[in-house]
Amino acid sequence: MKTIGIIGGGQLGRMLAMAAARLSLKVVILEPDANCPAAQVANRVIVAPYDDEAALDALAEACDVVTYEFENVPLIAATRLARRLPVYPPPKALEVSQDRLVEKRFLNGCGLDTARYHAIDSLEALQAGLEDFGGHGILKTRRFGYDGKGQLVLKPEGLDIEAAFAELGGVPLILESFVPFIREISIIAARSIDGAISAFDPAENIHRDGILSTSRVPANVDVAIMQAARSAAASILTALDYVGVIGVEFFVLASGKLAVNEIAPRVHNSGHWTEAACLVSQFEQHMRAVAGLPLGQTRRHSDCLMHNLIGDDIDRVPDWLATPDALLHLYGKDEARPGRKMGHVTVLSPR
Ligand code: ATP
Ligand code: MG
Ligand code: MG
Repeated sequence: MKTIGIIGGGQLGRMLAMAAARLSLKVVILEPDANCPAAQVANRVIVAPYDDEAALDALAEACDVVTYEFENVPLIAATRLARRLPVYPPPKALEVSQDRLVEKRFLNGCGLDTARYHAIDSLEALQAGLEDFGGHGILKTRRFGYDGKGQLVLKPEGLDIEAAFAELGGVPLILESFVPFIREISIIAARSIDGAISAFDPAENIHRDGILSTSRVPANVDVAIMQAARSAAASILTALDYVGVIGVEFFVLASGKLAVNEIAPRVHNSGHWTEAACLVSQFEQHMRAVAGLPLGQTRRHSDCLMHNLIGDDIDRVPDWLATPDALLHLYGKDEARPGRKMGHVTVLSPR
């Protein structure tokens, strides 16, 4: 029986551990919070900071392979582990996705379009960049942003460049052109150790306050766009010599072209629908890939709409429990703070 190490014990680690159990894989989680969501389902939790050397060595000792549930795993931890056992996805995927500037250069190097961008290390660079974009752009921290945190939309009206710079300042920034997208889609794809690639159908995503609110499948885009998303994901997976599941977020432009927004080298919130609408979920797919098992089938048996349950949305659980064709999944978190992901529910439209 193989043992899989997972760095990070949030809801994604928890759902990975649940999928692992069904495949008779054991799971050891490395996570500083002993009461993390994954602790309720993992075989063992090593409670320590992600870069604690003794804890990393204990993880390596206990496992056959290590994976992770978030992209901000310290690179130093991943490379320390990679000296002793396979780390999937490869640390290079962390390096690329941890820094929005490195990520965009990588994507462009794969022949994929992104928003236009400027590296911003000074107020002067921000002024010049905004001039290039006609005063309209999104200023983002290069590192550690998630759920729309660490970004500001800048518009020509009432623009105070100094205040914007100060608000996000102190870290390297990136200024992106504002993409006039008509919709947002994402694709969850996987690559196995032997190089096989497979993808689920793209989802159409709606964000509220910078946080994913719903994912609908099928996305309301034509087949050529779906195919372009699949082929973009395949280029990325191949370029990274990737093993595991990846999430790729796209903007769909009025021209029918795609621009990649960002990649997540892990299972992705916009792929939670797969547990309800496919026989093999993204979580099982990831576990299969990193454990060296064959990838599972990605065919969708139902159309569906996934709702994230954020903060107070948890109060509607009784309604969801009574909703036909709805699969509810809660993360075992006690305190419902605003913006906190508490669970999700996928409503199927049987066809
Ligand atoms: P996640 O939680 O998905 O990791 P994040 O904090 O990394 O989010 P992004 O995905 O970069 O943030 O941006 C969040 C949302 O903001 C996007 O899904 C999109 O709706 C909007 N957005 C981001 N960048 C741009 C852009 N250049 N042009 C237009 N809209 C954008
Ligand atoms: Mg992100
Ligand atoms: Mg995003």
